[in-house]
Amino acid sequence: MEAYNFTEIEKRWKKEWKDKGVYACDLSKPQDKYYTLVMFPYPSGDFLHAGHGRNYIIGDAVYRYFKALGKNVLNPMGFDAFGLPAENAAIKKGVHPEDWTLNNIERMKGQFYDWGMGYDWDKEVVSCLPNYYRWTQWIFLKLYEKGLAYRKKAYVNWCPSCLTVLANEQVVDGQCERCDSVVEQKDLEQWFFKITDYADRLLADIDRLENWPDRVKTMQKNWIGRSEGAEVDFKIEGKEASVTVFTTRPDTLFGATYMVLAPEHPLVLSLVKGTTKEAEVKGFVEKVKKQSAMDRTGEGAEKLGLDTGLKAVNPVNGKSIPVYIANYVLMNYGTGAIMAVPAHDTRDFEFAQKYKIPMVRVIQAPGGGAEDPLAEAYVEDGILVHSDFLNGLSVPEAKARMNEWLGGQKLGKKAVTYRLRDWLISRQRYWGAPIPMIHCEKCGWVPVPEKDLPVTLPRAVEFKPTGESPLKSIESFVNTFCPKCGGAAKRETDTMDTFVDSSWYFLRYVSPRNDQAAFDSKTANEWLPVDQYIGGVEHAILHLLYSRFVTKVLKDLGVINFDEPFKRLFTQGMITKGGIKMSKSKGNSVQPDELIQKYGSDTFRLYTLFIAPPERDAEWDDRAVEGAFRFLNRVWKLFQEVLERPDFKAGGEPKAETEGDKEVRRKTHQTIQKVTQDMTGGFKFNTAISAKMELINLLYDYKDQPGAQTPILREALEALIKLLGPFSPHIAEEMWSRLGGGGNLLNAGWPRHNPAWLKSDVVEIAVQINGKVRTRLSVPAGLDEAAMRALAGTDEKITKLLAGTTVQKVIWVKDKLANFIVKTS
Ligand SMILES: [Zn+2]
Ligand SMILES: [Zn+2]
Repeated sequence: MEAYNFTEIEKRWKKEWKDKGVYACDLSKPQDKYYTLVMFPYPSGDFLHAGHGRNYIIGDAVYRYFKALGKNVLNPMGFDAFGLPAENAAIKKGVHPEDWTLNNIERMKGQFYDWGMGYDWDKEVVSCLPNYYRWTQWIFLKLYEKGLAYRKKAYVNWCPSCLTVLANEQVVDGQCERCDSVVEQKDLEQWFFKITDYADRLLADIDRLENWPDRVKTMQKNWIGRSEGAEVDFKIEGKEASVTVFTTRPDTLFGATYMVLAPEHPLVLSLVKGTTKEAEVKGFVEKVKKQSAMDRTGEGAEKLGLDTGLKAVNPVNGKSIPVYIANYVLMNYGTGAIMAVPAHDTRDFEFAQKYKIPMVRVIQAPGGGAEDPLAEAYVEDGILVHSDFLNGLSVPEAKARMNEWLGGQKLGKKAVTYRLRDWLISRQRYWGAPIPMIHCEKCGWVPVPEKDLPVTLPRAVEFKPTGESPLKSIESFVNTFCPKCGGAAKRETDTMDTFVDSSWYFLRYVSPRNDQAAFDSKTANEWLPVDQYIGGVEHAILHLLYSRFVTKVLKDLGVINFDEPFKRLFTQGMITKGGIKMSKSKGNSVQPDELIQKYGSDTFRLYTLFIAPPERDAEWDDRAVEGAFRFLNRVWKLFQEVLERPDFKAGGEPKAETEGDKEVRRKTHQTIQKVTQDMTGGFKFNTAISAKMELINLLYDYKDQPGAQTPILREALEALIKLLGPFSPHIAEEMWSRLGGGGNLLNAGWPRHNPAWLKSDVVEIAVQINGKVRTRLSVPAGLDEAAMRALAGTDEKITKLLAGTTVQKVIWVKDKLANFIVKTS
């Protein structure tokens, strides 16, 4: 018997698929389209390890499944190819970032090939090539035209190790998302995208994303962070100035006993100028600036404050209250100033205790008293006390009443604030898309005309570890002419955040070579939104939020007719080894190349899909890989045996006679149903594989029974091969071809179960056409004639048989054994 020679089988089929271009998607036929997409990778210098493999393998299984269902599936791949590691490699190894990146891409494509990934490479996009970043620059210009790209001076996140600014989304617990350095604050002038203009829509439309994981939706909602409240103006005593605070609790205004400004608040230094506190305030501001956001507002962070000596007037009762600056108030939330109500806010309570500031209870607990002492802040609902015209009202009533009063007195207004800040997109690095702006002494900032795009990255640059962008020293790049007045001018040397590149790449796949537009609008409207997107949950508030924003902007510009990019989202769990995330730096990564050599890529794929429910984290187990390999060997061996049965070539319809026959047919149809349900309902690949293993076990029991029928084994094997296709495509293709399947398995269709066989009591009936038995139907026992007729009317086999005859209708008669026979006349 021929052994399972996976090396030879896989090599041959990979080549055949490539030569035949089986993965090419004809975009001109959008009927029955399906767009599956795995987040495009960063081509790093390391080989992809087995943990990386998971989302690609899931994506490929999904692709092959929808293809088998008969959909016209687009399954492209590309590379998120700009970014800092390329530049660091240039500094360290003296290799040009472009060469380093393109080499890595080639190596990664080789890995994808080895794994048997079904990508349509004709659609490939590479974000660091001018034919792509030209259109990233075009998108920047469109945002600029709309007033959605602007430059401002602000306190921004600075990574001292990456030597560049970062967006808020790239700071995780006070650390750089890429390198984990503690992020500092710097006062710099930078380019921003006005994502806050879309905060309300980005929030409201989350509820339309029915097929997204709840976890991701909640993370986006929290990040956007809408809060309703009021803006209230507080006059500063003895000054012309007033400070606007944002509060979500206008009902507690009578309990405000001090005010706090963020140390970065633009009014702080001017208000204390010339006072005895000036030097002390300046010193405090400098001290706080060195703290990370985590040190300032994280759980358990020490609250530091300073009384500025200034007094503000509480507008509701005219009382004079001290003005503090404190580290726990950030400039980038609300207005950068708060009214502090220590009796009813936990942070204010802690601060007031520390600095001995009085507290006034204005909410009385149900069943409690107005003068109850406070052991901690009372943050629950209750009835208003010590609050003049609000006394006796509930919290919601008091909020509404206070907003009304503030409006009437012109002291404030109802307001909504968002936690979301504008997206900082400029980076002080070389390896990114140049921001297409020119600075002219006379005209200010002038956009590069569209016809002059792309602003190409100069190749001849020197990489030094000085932290300065190499672009700054390339005179031929920097010096240019003003598009407006023609005078001498200077180019922006900052490049764009790579998250801008990835915010629209899914649109480029439908027209990757288009040199007239970023993408063809008609094709984009036909093929998008992406039907199934697959990627890591770590992108929940980064890439996934930015892409939604850019898609909405493009919709508003009229270039596309949809405003959400991804209809369904699947986020895979991570793979751990020894309990920690698999990674090269931790030394616990499994190399797919070694696995493939030992077991073949079909085993690597099968095991990765079998390891656990794909949305969950899973621990890699080398022994279990062998289990997957054994299963494929069992399938192969059984297939050989069936193929060698003397009556195999005779063919024939499966006809269940014995209980054993029936059991196998029942199991076959149950397995088809189970795997189909698992593929459609949440990608339960692991239980789908278990079902196939059960079927194989039963077939092993059955095949050696006397009277085991070859057509029944064949029926089961044919189904199994098709069900195995998305998981382990090479072995499945080989068996399909030896069965004489014809064509490629990818297009051979998905098996359908016969519901009749799912029940345990099934009878077979013969179908006669013009007196001759032409086929048999399996139907549940005990059906009456009407039910039988209904079944026959929808049965494919009968329809097919009748199609070639002059027979018009089906007649049912009872035979001698009181079984139904279908007669046709
Ligand atoms: Zn960093
Ligand atoms: Zn000019």
